[in-house]
Amino acid sequence: MSGNQSLLNGTTIGVLGGGQLGRMLAQAVKRLGGRIQVFEPQASCPASAVADKTVTAPYEDIAALSAFARECDVITYEFENVPAAPLRAIENLTRLRPHWRVLETAQNRSREKNWLKQNGFPHARFAEVAAGGDLIGGIGEVGVPCVVKTADFGYDGKGQFKVMSESDIPEAAQRFAGQPVVIEQYVDFSCEVSVVVARSENGETAVFPVSENIHTNHILDFSIVPARLPAVVTAAAEKMAREVAEKIDLVGVLGVEFFVTKSGAVLINELAPRTHNSGHYTMDACVTSQFEQQARAICGRPLGAVTLNSPVVMVNILGDAWAKGEPNWPALQAHPGTHLHLYGKSEARPGRKMGHFNVLATDADTALLLAKTGKQLLRAEPAGEGPGRA
Ligand code: AMP
Repeated sequence: MSGNQSLLNGTTIGVLGGGQLGRMLAQAVKRLGGRIQVFEPQASCPASAVADKTVTAPYEDIAALSAFARECDVITYEFENVPAAPLRAIENLTRLRPHWRVLETAQNRSREKNWLKQNGFPHARFAEVAAGGDLIGGIGEVGVPCVVKTADFGYDGKGQFKVMSESDIPEAAQRFAGQPVVIEQYVDFSCEVSVVVARSENGETAVFPVSENIHTNHILDFSIVPARLPAVVTAAAEKMAREVAEKIDLVGVLGVEFFVTKSGAVLINELAPRTHNSGHYTMDACVTSQFEQQARAICGRPLGAVTLNSPVVMVNILGDAWAKGEPNWPALQAHPGTHLHLYGKSEARPGRKMGHFNVLATDADTALLLAKTGKQLLRAEPAGEGPGRA
């Protein structure tokens, strides 16, 4: 069957988590001729509409997880807060990529920061305070301004609080009472960037181009590629991402988030051992998408080219776009260079990621202008209809 065999023919991939990242992985796997099964605690998840099979059960249900594992050639995860313990329990039943130890390190801010420190990666200075420990002492150790973050279950700014002056300390003490936290020095960054790196079992690595990220209310709003930064800065981020992948013994893909300081230093903020929101631009602008790359890396196939075909800006579409009714899709779709991706979620809540669009243009600044207009168009009244659109 050599020659015309599809890239993933005959392979069954299992994904833990059925959100949009699982859905887009499923789309990539299906396109390559593979099979995909989803394990997700909540019924009717975005990935289930695309997957060959969905198992609805809690991650702690070892019997269900074991049966799932036996049906899959390889398992990955798309959600950082999958508990590591059940994964340890199934590790002899199938291949889990990345290894549960990578997930365990990245899903807890204390372990993540300590890993960065022990492996010599630049990061914001930090202190750890155990549950019921001396939070005020920890803040004193790091100094004000600082950011207090819960050690577990943090993403998109959830579970964090900025202490910008001494007067914010009582509120921090009250909010985090009894919880283990990490207190980080506040980084007065000039911008935030991120990188998606892939690594396969044989040690081959590939780093997608650096994305410059603009957040609004702690949630990614725009990703701009190529990042409008000096080459030394982007090269430093790419090099660090590759080194992280090697040192953590990654098999799969990993998103690395960075702060770029005003003096051009690059600090690692966070690691996410999965595809990353800021890597969605690869779906329309790169030779290989981050989802195809994830499938290739975990299945032991050669990694795809990470070449950027066109400057691009990715825009997240949040549930807020539904505030006045259904967004104006025809207006967005008529917009030049625009590629729309929706996640099939039925309920639009403020802050919920419902989809994204990529805008391709001849340069990053033009793409950003078009992206901003595209975002406004979503809220434009359709021609011929008055206000009060439901
Ligand atoms: P995180 O959930 O840790 O990725 O944080 C979400 C966002 O909060 C980041 O993308 C930054 O915009 C901001 N942030 C987090 N940590 C810090 C810090 N130490 N200094 C300044 N801003 C931060």
